[in-house]
Amino acid sequence: MRLRKYLRGNGRVLAFVFIASVIWLFFDIAALRISMNEANQDLKEREIVLKQGRRKDNVEHVFKNPLQKVNKRDLFKNSNRFERKVDQVYRKWPKVRPENQTKVNLIVNSNVKGTIISIPEKINQSKTVDIYGNVNSITAKINKIKAAVNGQTEANPYVRAHLLTKALPAVHHKIHPSVLKEESVKKGHHINDTLAMLQNEVHADVSLQNNLINELLKTVDSDKANNILDYTVKHVSTFNKTKPDIIKNLSELKDPARNPAEEAVRVLHSTSVQVRRSGGHHKVMALDVTDRPRDPRAVGQFGQPASVPRDKELESRRRWSEGFFNVFLSEQIPIDRAIPDTRPQICSENLVHDDLPSTSVIFCFVDEVWSTLLRSVHSVLNRSPPHLLKEIILVDDCSTKDYLMEQLDVYMSQFPKVRIIRLKERQGLIRARITGAAAATGEVLTFLDSHIECNVGWLEPLLERIYLDHKKVVCPVIEVISDKDMSYMLVDNFQRGIFRWPLVFGWSALPQEYIRKNQVKDSDPIRCPVMAGGLFSIDKNYFYELGAYDPGLDVWGGENMEISFKIWMCGGEIEIIPCSRVGHIFRGDNPYKFPKNRVKTVERNLARVAEVWLDEYKELFYGHGYHHLLDKTEIGNLTEQIELRKKLKCNSFKWYLENVYPDLDAPLVKAEGLIFSVGTRKCLVFHRDILFFDKCDLSNKSQHFSYTWLRMLRQNTSCLAPQEKKIIMEPCESTKPHLRWIHKSKGLEEHVMLEGHSRSKCLEAGVKADSIFLTDCDPVNNFQKWQFTHYYAE
Ligand code: UDP
Ligand code: MN
Repeated sequence: MRLRKYLRGNGRVLAFVFIASVIWLFFDIAALRISMNEANQDLKEREIVLKQGRRKDNVEHVFKNPLQKVNKRDLFKNSNRFERKVDQVYRKWPKVRPENQTKVNLIVNSNVKGTIISIPEKINQSKTVDIYGNVNSITAKINKIKAAVNGQTEANPYVRAHLLTKALPAVHHKIHPSVLKEESVKKGHHINDTLAMLQNEVHADVSLQNNLINELLKTVDSDKANNILDYTVKHVSTFNKTKPDIIKNLSELKDPARNPAEEAVRVLHSTSVQVRRSGGHHKVMALDVTDRPRDPRAVGQFGQPASVPRDKELESRRRWSEGFFNVFLSEQIPIDRAIPDTRPQICSENLVHDDLPSTSVIFCFVDEVWSTLLRSVHSVLNRSPPHLLKEIILVDDCSTKDYLMEQLDVYMSQFPKVRIIRLKERQGLIRARITGAAAATGEVLTFLDSHIECNVGWLEPLLERIYLDHKKVVCPVIEVISDKDMSYMLVDNFQRGIFRWPLVFGWSALPQEYIRKNQVKDSDPIRCPVMAGGLFSIDKNYFYELGAYDPGLDVWGGENMEISFKIWMCGGEIEIIPCSRVGHIFRGDNPYKFPKNRVKTVERNLARVAEVWLDEYKELFYGHGYHHLLDKTEIGNLTEQIELRKKLKCNSFKWYLENVYPDLDAPLVKAEGLIFSVGTRKCLVFHRDILFFDKCDLSNKSQHFSYTWLRMLRQNTSCLAPQEKKIIMEPCESTKPHLRWIHKSKGLEEHVMLEGHSRSKCLEAGVKADSIFLTDCDPVNNFQKWQFTHYYAE
């Protein structure tokens, strides 16, 4: 009765709606299951790639997804594991040597009893000891040595800091000797401590004899000034002052109240006309000048880890998101702090040409943290030979922070070499760099991120390579400035930038065997298949010859792939130069907004790169989880980029793989050969437009098929397609979803299932091998099982 009542009038309508929604819900669930299957398939493929990668070149990686907050300890614990997320298309950390290991080169002189020696010639029977370790172990070792030399054990913390950073020879002389002596006396240091300090000084000077700035700094008597001046005139440039003027300037250095470093910079920065002596050489200048005396006790000085005081922890946490690193600590650290000279030992002895090209350093930034931006700029000003630094161009990509407006203009106006370009609209990193390059007047463009610290001697080794060959594009070793404690960390040697499918950047060490066989030294340039992207130098004309960057790339991402492929394929080379080192803060997140969705932006950029540069290999890119990009409507116009590649007569991507990155696993298809039907024990044939079965015969071309990365079953240009229940061959087209088949999915390991169908449909052979059709999948039916002769990827 009741039921009938419900089925009457309004009740009938309601019941109909109810039943319809239930049916709809069922459909929905089924569709969801299918799409989950697809997603699982994608994930599985990615997993497989990872496994393969590990097996293939036996390389340890530290990959970090910037979206995760990885603390340093975890990072080290997992150093032989790498993690990826579905949307992971971001740049990663290079491998870090654990625990901020430093090498200390200590001179122990057992011959000095109570006398202070401050000039190199007087140190005779000294012994050089190399000590490796972290802060504590080095301290312990130094104390032991000292105890052995003089029976003295306790080290004053002040001295300890100084000794611990012995790896920075270029920094020590910046602390005025008189300041040191005074401090030592005041603090009642044991003579042995002072002695060790001065020996460090001496060591620093010895290793930098040919450094012009150091010479100037040491010059406190006018006799020597004349020699230095001659040297300067001959080797570096002409001063626009007259000789007596400079002598006067130099003799002012005698005044202990004045800071010699500051004077030296002033003198050198006043040089204008460059007179180059061609053919001459000099040792790399490891200069590190600053316009103020360095406080050895400052937070983070010498690149040491800093810690947040208890009562500031909240503040430090609160401010993290301003830059996605420890913004609070960065503010405590001097903007011109010293960092350890992490170069391989031989680097300071290497010769470079006297007439290297000059460079414009370009920093693009958007909403960069004040202290890191300044530290980046100062590290360039303080550690670049002035005559090689044409200018520093700051390209403000439409920042929103107040302090980056007038305050920045005012601050930078102190430095005539610094120019600021303000973009009216947010352009993104790529177009910002193009703008910076257009404004540059130097012969070489050097692009740097805006949260870096250039190490001593960083510039000349880069310029030297470009001097030798203008088609070399060179990157410094990117070291890690901890986002947590702001310490400067060494990275492992012999690392190169690589990519894995689908164009994911990563680091990989050269195999030990390769290093041994080729006797690769730790200072040798390393050929690099892909650059990390943020830091590199390139000849300006060459940059334009290559058509700069693709201006169609948005905001961030993929531009490192684009320029890398372009460089290699069009006749250039990318190298990492171990004698040039620059620290970079690798951040957990981007502190700026992406005008569109971040993942979408990066994917779109990568698809542009794939379309222009990867040739037939672009299928590997799409096939590793980017099928959804195959409908190219959103990637914009590529005509100019394709024209450019033709104009430059660039090599093929196949050439690149064979010659630059042969260790990459890049099979063009997932499987190929005969398609064997397990049930009929026959093979599929496509001949004269008909599909049928025959005895398997490897030599019969009509039996050859391939299973592509786009999941098509292909013979030449024809692909297997369903037509109602029948199966036909039709022209292959990457955008047609009905041509995609899933071979080997979970529960259907040997099946060939049509993709994207609401109910799973599989390929089946007629029992008598007289037909092939589409039907409901059945996991145990042998006539639905198919095998290829060769599988290249699972
Ligand atoms: N940048 C920019 N505009 C953008 C995005 C980034 O100028 O739209 C700058 C950013 O401030 C930084 C550099 O480009 O100096 C590289 O960006 P980021 O450090 O975020 O990249 P990562 O080091 O993570 O690869
Ligand atoms: Mn960066």
